[in-house]
Amino acid sequence: MALDREIYLDNAATTYCNGEVFYAMQPYFITNYGNPNSLHQVGYTAREAVEKARASVAKIINADPDEIYFTSGATESNNWALKGIVAASPIKRILISAIEHPSITETARWLTENGVEVEYIKVDENGIISIPDLLAKLSKPTCLVSVMTANHEVGTVQYINTIANICSKNNVYFHTDATQALESVHINVKEMKISALSLSGHKIYGPKGVGVLYIKRGTRIETFMHGGYQENGLRAGTYNLPAIVGLGKAVEICMRDGNTNNTRMKQLRDYFIKEIETKIPGVKLNGHRTQRLNNNVNFSFQGISGESITAMLDAMGIRASTGTASTSEMLSRSYVLQAIGVHDDYINGAVRFTLGRATTKEDLDYTVNCLINIVRKLRSVSPINIKVEGVENV
Ligand code: PMP
Repeated sequence: MALDREIYLDNAATTYCNGEVFYAMQPYFITNYGNPNSLHQVGYTAREAVEKARASVAKIINADPDEIYFTSGATESNNWALKGIVAASPIKRILISAIEHPSITETARWLTENGVEVEYIKVDENGIISIPDLLAKLSKPTCLVSVMTANHEVGTVQYINTIANICSKNNVYFHTDATQALESVHINVKEMKISALSLSGHKIYGPKGVGVLYIKRGTRIETFMHGGYQENGLRAGTYNLPAIVGLGKAVEICMRDGNTNNTRMKQLRDYFIKEIETKIPGVKLNGHRTQRLNNNVNFSFQGISGESITAMLDAMGIRASTGTASTSEMLSRSYVLQAIGVHDDYINGAVRFTLGRATTKEDLDYTVNCLINIVRKLRSVSPINIKVEGVENV
C-alpha cells in the first residue's frame, strides 16, 4: 500500500502553524506593522496586540500578564531562567534532572565552567524524578531547581506540583520547562507555586522563533538582554510582533480545543502503543506508560538501530525521529535513555513518534504495517546475533 501524502509523526520537533494562527498574524506584517514602543497610533495598535497575547498566555497558566516575558523561544527562556536566577543569587548552586533538554543541560554545563555547582537529581526507569534524592540534595543551600514538566524524548510527565511545593517549603526557586507540555498538562503557576516557566510557540501550532518566560512577581533574576526598555527592561529588543500575535492565538486555540484534542490524542496514542506491542516482537515502550504526554509514543526495537528504522520509514512517507531535533543528526546514544537505564540491547533502537492534531487512525495503521516489514527486514540482515523474544531465527 503506497501513500500519496506524508504522515508526520514528529510533532515534538515542531508542529505546523495553525491556519487561524497564520491569518491572525498576517495583518501584523503589512498593515499593523508598528513598533509597540512607538508613542503614536501605529505603535499603540501594535502595543494593544502584544498585550492581548500576553493576557492569553497569562490566562492559560493562571499567571498575571505582567509576569509574562516574550522571548525568541524556549531555548532563550531556559538560558535566561538558569543564568538570570543564578546571577541574582548569592547562592551558586542549582539542581536539574539528568533528562532535561540540551538548552538546560548545556546551560548548566556552562554555569559549571563559571563556578556554579550543578547537581543532577536522579530519575527512575520511567523518567520520574526521585523525590528522596531531591530532598537529600536540597539539604545544601541551593538557589534554583529546574525540572521539565514533560520530557521531549520519552514523554514522561513529572509530578511538578509535588516538586514545586518542596522547593517552595525550602525557599528555593523552581523553574520548569513546559515546552512540550502546554496542551497536554494542566498548569496553574499560582496553585503549583512555580517561580519560572518556559514555553515555545512552535510546539503548539504557533510560529517558530517566539517563546515565553513566566517569571513570578518578586523573583530575583538578572536582565537577559540589555539595550532597551522592552519587557520591563529585562529583555530588550524590538518585539517580534507577528510572532507574538501568533503565539497568543495558538494559546487561545489550546484553551478552546484542548480538552477535545487531548481526549482524541490519548485514544490514538494508546491504540498505537497496543498495536505495536501486539504485532511486533522485541519492543519496549520507553517512558512512563500512563504518566506521559498524550501525543508521545517512544519504542525501542531490540537489536536494530533507530536511525535505520526512521530512514526506512522516511522512504515510505512517514516522518518520525530517534529523539530530539537537536540531537537526531548524531548517531550517539540518547542521554535520556541512558539516564533512565535502558538496556544495551534496546538503547540504539529507539524511535519517537509524536502524534499531532492532523494524525488519524489510518495513519497509525499504515505506520504499524510499515514497521512490521521494516523491523523484520532489519533483523534479518543484522550482523548481531540477537535473540528476540517471540521470534525464531532472527
Ligand atoms: N525545551 C524542550 C523540552 C524542547 O523540546 C525544545 C525544542 N526541541 C526546547 C526546549 C527549545 O525550544 P525552542 O525551539 O523554542 O528554542
